[in-house]
Amino acid sequence: MQRHLSDRRLAGELWVAETPRTSAFLGHGHKERSGTEGARTRATLKIQDGCNEKCTYCIIPSVRGMSVSREPAEILAEARHLASLGYREIALTGVNTGCFGHDLDHDEGLAALIDELHALDLPLRYRLNSLEPRTVTETLLDVIEASPSFCRHFHVPMQHGDSRILKRMGRTYETDFYCEVVERIHARFPTAGIGADLMVGFPGEEEEHFESSHAFVASLPLSYLHVFTYSEREGTPATRMQGHLDARTKQERSRRLHQLEERLRRDFQSRLDSQEEVMLVESKPGPAGRLTGLCSNYLRAELTECIDLSPRANECWRVQLAPGSDGRLAIAQALSQIPG
Ligand code: SF4
Repeated sequence: MQRHLSDRRLAGELWVAETPRTSAFLGHGHKERSGTEGARTRATLKIQDGCNEKCTYCIIPSVRGMSVSREPAEILAEARHLASLGYREIALTGVNTGCFGHDLDHDEGLAALIDELHALDLPLRYRLNSLEPRTVTETLLDVIEASPSFCRHFHVPMQHGDSRILKRMGRTYETDFYCEVVERIHARFPTAGIGADLMVGFPGEEEEHFESSHAFVASLPLSYLHVFTYSEREGTPATRMQGHLDARTKQERSRRLHQLEERLRRDFQSRLDSQEEVMLVESKPGPAGRLTGLCSNYLRAELTECIDLSPRANECWRVQLAPGSDGRLAIAQALSQIPG
């Protein structure tokens, strides 16, 4: 119990930030803030901390403790505060965000919170960070569908595309279940960005497991991957497992997955050719010297030359997309500004 309370205090210290910063996951590991120097574009709002799962490679449950949720009233107040400061996007973060509310007397947990945040009708949009596969329920998808202020972007950690390795990892689903979750999201939100965390080189990952994982990932409608190479975390069960891989093998498998990611990104851009999206403009110029921005579906794009319209940083615009010259940056033609 004492441990639980101290974890809650630890989490509390992290929850309210005077000057919130965009978390690394929004920028694929880039640390820089979005927007103009000093401008307020994207902020993070931590809603949950800790985790009740027992993944064999992860140290978080032993250092952060059980899942604890921030009080919904505080979250709503913080969202209003961030909107008053001029932020245009809030990323709702946590260690296992989908567990939000399970420790509170808060019906429907995350789904109810989404509903309440949307009902505030603030001049900003919200982005959910990663959601463990089992927390992506029909109720959650229903409420996201009914809440246009929530970005059409889902990050669902997979960790491995072979059920035998998932079992060794202590993950509580098999690949069939993961596939079903992604297919359900894709069927409801065909232009949504869907990303996955993927680990290579877990102890016991043989060539056969890696190849089946690669084929599985390639078969899904994912738009990007976060590829991690397994490294030992002292005190975790995985360190004591047989079959640790040499650095070269891990490097080669990581390279193959990065290649696959490049293909998934290009395919996503091709699927979105001519589609309309909502883009939050940032001040950072792209390779052609024009402003870039982040679309609701997590696609980054550079604006085309525009004679009549002049989008500026921190504004939301309806844009029409076209594939760019690489998988990282699409092209966006400004159509109309979204007031707010
Ligand atoms: S990997 Fe994620 S779900 Fe698994 S124990 Fe760590 S924080 Fe929890």
